[in-house]
Amino acid sequence: MEITLGAAPPVSHVRSRFPYAPRSIWKGVAEDQWNDWHWQQRERVTSLEQLDHVIRLTDDERRAVIEADAQFHMGITPYYAALMDPEDPTCPVRLQSVPTMGELSFAAADLDDPLAEERDMPVPGITHRYPDRVLFYTTHNCPVYCRHCTRKRKVADPTSAAAKSQIEQSLAYIALHTEIRDVVVSGGDPLSLSDDRLDYILGRLRAIPHVEIFRLGTRNLVTLPQRITDDLVAMLKGHQPVYVNTHFNHPRECTGEAFDAARRLADGGCVIGNQMVLLKGINDDPRIVRELNHKLLMMRIRPYYIYQCDLAKGISHFRTPIEAGRRIIRSLRGHTSGMAVPYFVVDAPNGGGKIPVNPDYVVRHEGKRWVLRNFAGKEFTYDEP
Ligand code: SF4
Repeated sequence: MEITLGAAPPVSHVRSRFPYAPRSIWKGVAEDQWNDWHWQQRERVTSLEQLDHVIRLTDDERRAVIEADAQFHMGITPYYAALMDPEDPTCPVRLQSVPTMGELSFAAADLDDPLAEERDMPVPGITHRYPDRVLFYTTHNCPVYCRHCTRKRKVADPTSAAAKSQIEQSLAYIALHTEIRDVVVSGGDPLSLSDDRLDYILGRLRAIPHVEIFRLGTRNLVTLPQRITDDLVAMLKGHQPVYVNTHFNHPRECTGEAFDAARRLADGGCVIGNQMVLLKGINDDPRIVRELNHKLLMMRIRPYYIYQCDLAKGISHFRTPIEAGRRIIRSLRGHTSGMAVPYFVVDAPNGGGKIPVNPDYVVRHEGKRWVLRNFAGKEFTYDEP
C-alpha cells in the first residue's frame, strides 16, 4: 500500500528558553546560569510543588507525581521542562517527562528486566550478549527520567549506581576478553559523569588493544544540550573513534540548543546516530517521524533505529502495535532520502536481541526469479544471472 504524506512542513528551530512557559519559574535566571549544565542538573524539577509552577497539572498527573514516585522518580531539567506546553497534557515533551497514572497499571506481558540484561551479566555492570561487543553501565543518573525508560528498574535509584570497584571490575572483564572490539558505554546516562571521570574510563578503554570503538549512549543532547561543552568535546577528541547514540523522539526536541550541541560533537569528530522509541500519542505518526528525521539529518545525526516500545513494567500505555512502525517505514522508504529511513526493530524479550521487522518488498521468489515491489507499490522482476 502506498502512503502519501504530502509536502514536508518547513523545518524550524526554536530556541528552547520559555517557548511555552509563561508561568516559568526560571524567568529571572541569568543566561550563563541557564547555560551551565551543573546548574541545570541541580535545579531539576523533582517535586509536585515545583511542577505546579511550570505547567497546569491535570488531576491524573497530580496523583501520578505522588503515587508513581516509589516506582520511578521524577526528574526534569529546567531546559527540558521549558519545552513543555503548560496548557496541553498531550504535549510530547510533557508525556515523556511528567508521570501519568498509566505507569501504575501493569499489563500481563510486562517484565521487570524486559531485555534480560541482568541475566547476561558475567560481572556486575557488564551485559555481554553478542560475541564482539558489550554494554558497560557507568552510572544510573540521567538529567531527565524518561517515563518510557526500559531500565527504570535501576535508573534513578542511587543505590544501584556503579561504584568505583564495579567500574574497575568491568574494565578488567573487557581487558580479559579479547573478542570484545566494541563497547557501548551506557547507564543511565554516561554524560552525567564529570569530564574527568569519563576521561578516565574512556582512556582505560582506549588502552585496551582489542577495543576498536566505543559508543556513548546519551540523551543529554535532547534533555541537557548544555552538557556538550567545548571541554567535553576536546576530551572526546582524544579518544576517537567515538560514536554517539542519542534518543530524540519528537521534532519539538530539535531546538537551537540541540542543533548547537550536535554541531559541536560532530565538529569534534563524533559520529552521531539516533535511536527513537515508538511511543503512542508522541511519535506514532509518519508525518512526525519524517519531520524529526529531516531535522536530525540537518543536525548531522543519522536516524539509526526505531525501537518498538519494549515490555518494561508500567509503560504499556506507550505501546503501539508493531504494524504502526512498519507503516512509518513504508511511508519513508522511497518517499524521502534513504538516510532518513532507520531500521525498525523489536528488541526481543528475554534477551532475543534486536530483530528487524521492516516491511517486506519481496513479493515472490522462484528459483532465480525475484518479484519485488517498489515504494510506489509497482512490481518488478529481477532475474539472477
Ligand atoms: S535517558 Fe535513557 S536511561 Fe535515562 S531515563 Fe531516559 S531512557 Fe532511561
